[in-house]
Amino acid sequence: MNIWFLTGSQGLYGEDTLRQVAEQSQRIAEALPVPVQWKPVLTDAAAIRRVMLEANADDSCAGVIAWMHTFSPAKMWIAGLDALRKPLLHLHTQANVELPWASIDMDFMNLNQAAHGDREFGYAQTRLGVARKTVAGHVSDPAVAERVLSWARAVSGLAELRTLKLARFGDNMRDVAVTEGDKVEAQLRFGVSVNTYGVNDLVEAVDAAADADVDKLLKEYEELYRVAPELLGERRESLRYAARIELGLRHFLESGGFKAFTTNFEDLGGLRQLPGLAVQRLMADGYGFGGEGDWKTSVLLRTLKAMAPGGTSFMEDYTYHLTPGEELILGAHMLEVCPTIASGTPSCEIHPLGIGGREDPVRLVFDATPGPGVVVGLADMGDRFRLVANEIDLVAPPQPLPALPVARAVWRPRPNLRTSAESWLTAGAPHHTVLSTAVGVEELTDLAEMLGVELLVIDAGTTPRQFAKEIRWNQAYYRLAQGF
Ligand code: MN
Repeated sequence: MNIWFLTGSQGLYGEDTLRQVAEQSQRIAEALPVPVQWKPVLTDAAAIRRVMLEANADDSCAGVIAWMHTFSPAKMWIAGLDALRKPLLHLHTQANVELPWASIDMDFMNLNQAAHGDREFGYAQTRLGVARKTVAGHVSDPAVAERVLSWARAVSGLAELRTLKLARFGDNMRDVAVTEGDKVEAQLRFGVSVNTYGVNDLVEAVDAAADADVDKLLKEYEELYRVAPELLGERRESLRYAARIELGLRHFLESGGFKAFTTNFEDLGGLRQLPGLAVQRLMADGYGFGGEGDWKTSVLLRTLKAMAPGGTSFMEDYTYHLTPGEELILGAHMLEVCPTIASGTPSCEIHPLGIGGREDPVRLVFDATPGPGVVVGLADMGDRFRLVANEIDLVAPPQPLPALPVARAVWRPRPNLRTSAESWLTAGAPHHTVLSTAVGVEELTDLAEMLGVELLVIDAGTTPRQFAKEIRWNQAYYRLAQGF
């Protein structure tokens, strides 16, 4: 993935100054926390338009950073900015940190005038309605570096989304509303292609898995997890079948170029177990997943996985601890929680599952690692998509959960359960989410800006009254912003 670094100036200053601009701009580019491809200093409208068209046409160019080192009259940028279709970061910085108070002269002033050069550029971007992120400060400031890095992570997510292919095994869980959605609009807005397969296409791949590969995978399970003794003894055949599902699923996804998928426990065809362990391990390898045919959450999960390595999982708000002042959410799913959020070594177990009507499924069981995180959901509001994120603090369960045979996460939502839940429900946000400790609200904000999709954030500063107003204002804004 390449990010291009563009520097704005003009011809007025002469060769010497432009050489200094180029040198200083290269130093700034090198000091950025992400590798960038530095482009020669831009001084006229034709070159600016040309470089933007090249950025659009180059599949390896994922985004563009622009900085007006000197004054770059912004009418020169109109055609180029209007043509640009890649994510843009406006870096408002300058070469020096301190002013050389004793020696500063007009040459220094004319060389280092981003303070107003970037204001001219900001005007043009706003006048044209260009979506971008603006970051102000010296590149040596860790806060600046972190914000540029967040944008670069969002750029990676967007690049993944633009070419993502998702396979659904079966359709939606019957009668469920929020997991439905407009797949044509999703392909136009996000780029993802969502296609359904008969679950027996998967069964064929599962049945075709080689015994030798199953043996190898069992060894891997024994190395990575605490495998329940019964799964190595009298119930070994169940573990072998779980491994077979993983091999078949992996083969199906790899051969079709799919990086995300969904399953539906109501439609298992010839599958003998609901896929649990296989789904968990594929998520850990970066695949998107959604249960009950939930392709939107699967898309979101894959996108966040592409943004940053680390703890990110499919999640569902399951049940509450409502003791006043100690309110907590216990999140889990039937089986499918990603071990990248696990604290300690997961145990590999087999237990009955009340739904699905198949053989007992094998699954990994663990608690989630405590720490700050976010849950985010994607809903189709009919005329557009809506993202809703809630900042959370994952905690260790107040007591051990010896009778709960499923991986789980326990968290305290910010600012508190009441405001979080009331706001979430008012927003019409889904019960399936993506939980992440690797990606935060900053990255999600950048991604939403790139996509032109609404993002509602519930955090420490949220009040239900203000949040309800924001929803109303957004309804008007997004309806107007998408035109007729
Ligand atoms: Mn579910």
